[in-house]
Amino acid sequence: MRAPVKLRHEFVEVIPRERENGVLYVSIPFATAVHNCFCGCGTKVVTPISPVGWQLIFDGEAVSLSPSVGNWAYPCRSHYFIRRDTVVWADDMTEAEIALGRARDKSAREAHYDGKRQAVATTAATAAPALKKRGFWSWLLGRG
Ligand SMILES: [Zn+2]
Repeated sequence: MRAPVKLRHEFVEVIPRERENGVLYVSIPFATAVHNCFCGCGTKVVTPISPVGWQLIFDGEAVSLSPSVGNWAYPCRSHYFIRRDTVVWADDMTEAEIALGRARDKSAREAHYDGKRQAVATTAATAAPALKKRGFWSWLLGRG
């Protein structure tokens, strides 16, 4: 198990293109946090802050992100918690655990955006053509 590593948080308006390693950039206007993967591989990791994304806690001194950050899509496959400006390494998850987490995220996202769709009529109007197109393709593929 790797020892926890201190990070530095920085509140910014816009996430800078050139990012320092070991810094968690937080943009409140864009509701996003971005950092270079804390394992040291340097991959850009974006964590959108939303009710169904990550929740950011700023206690006046340090920031925490919840849930953990799992970089399954990257070669390093690192997994860590960000707790009060500290990177706390987590165990690698099994494929089954990752799939379960993704399914949970997906249904949470869908429930969240369904609620929004009902509230915003324009969203429903833009979603309809996309459904129609998908229907066409499955019809076409179904015949193939
Ligand atoms: Zn990494």
